[in-house]
Amino acid sequence: MPNITPEQMRFWSPDVRELEPYVPGEQPKIQNLLKLNTNENPYPPSPKVVAAVQAVLENSADALRLYPDPDATALKQAIAKQQHVPVEQVFVGNGSDEVLAHIFKAFFVQDKPILYPDITYSFYPVYSQFFGISAQSKIIPLNDDFEIVVDDYKQPNGGIIITNPNAPTSIALGLSAIEEVLQANPDSVVVIDEAYVDFGTESAVKLVDKYDNLVVCQTTSKSRSLAGLRVGFAIAQPHLIAALEAVKNSFNSFPIDRFAIAAGVASFEDQDYFEAQCQKVIKCRDTLIYDLEALGFKVLPSKANFVFATLPNHDAGELMKALREKGIIVRYFNKPRINQFLRITVGTDEQNQRLVDTLRNDILK
Ligand code: PMP
Repeated sequence: MPNITPEQMRFWSPDVRELEPYVPGEQPKIQNLLKLNTNENPYPPSPKVVAAVQAVLENSADALRLYPDPDATALKQAIAKQQHVPVEQVFVGNGSDEVLAHIFKAFFVQDKPILYPDITYSFYPVYSQFFGISAQSKIIPLNDDFEIVVDDYKQPNGGIIITNPNAPTSIALGLSAIEEVLQANPDSVVVIDEAYVDFGTESAVKLVDKYDNLVVCQTTSKSRSLAGLRVGFAIAQPHLIAALEAVKNSFNSFPIDRFAIAAGVASFEDQDYFEAQCQKVIKCRDTLIYDLEALGFKVLPSKANFVFATLPNHDAGELMKALREKGIIVRYFNKPRINQFLRITVGTDEQNQRLVDTLRNDILK
């Protein structure tokens, strides 16, 4: 960000002067870089996805000239089929970050407090500020084992958002716990952000028919290797989807471009590839955890495509810097309670081996 003088700042809306924007994990240009900082998938998307993107240009001279389908109907249909829900229960957006923004606007901007954990996806406080509900947000501490305590979500509120499995802790909550939260809050919307659900957590999508206050949000960025495409989606009953559509059509009518629609369809149709890739990542994760524990790390029980790990008697910030000097980027949050942890994206076995070897032979020797 350039240095802005108070005089220049006078042009800014007062609200914008106060914003503290989200800081995405960096995308550095370092030679021989091993990038384990933003939970991207180490494997490529289905070859059918790549072919579908190429076909968009090859099959239509007008692909770039014409607007895409504002409803992205083909994509919604493919998601509905793969998720076993009617298409009326599907909403799509430009990454789940955009879907989450619409969720905040559609359901959470009201006078009652919204509840979310103290350690969770750091975009929630940013959206709270952006939509002017920071003062109403109630931050609920995780317990000492970094777990969500369901009873804490049984108090008056205007909405609840829980990441499952949680990030950056990687710990998952069972569906019965989610149901307990839903049943205790029949008059507010409960959002389950399932960005990492495909790596071993049971999805709350199967509860959507039963609960008229549930919104489940997912992304193609992690388990479908499509972070560069920007496709996220929400599943909920039609009266909630209608609110999201109203917000979306008041903001950007064409959030999903033609390439993203085609690629997304191909990805959701290639279920075999998807399942095989998720299993590969899970296997690599389990080996990585084993190897990190052998080096003395304490690793939280992960159901995600990343691990959250701390090494007793070593400063996590220093470890992060030492790894960086060796070309390995991991995510470090200098925040209360978690400033001795590293969040490490699961790479391929070869990538994880480089991390473990570098720790063992260069940093901890
Ligand atoms: N939710 C959580 C918990 C995440 O970690 C992320 C990735 N930063 C997102 C949502 C957003 O993912 P995307 O916008 O790539 O779909």
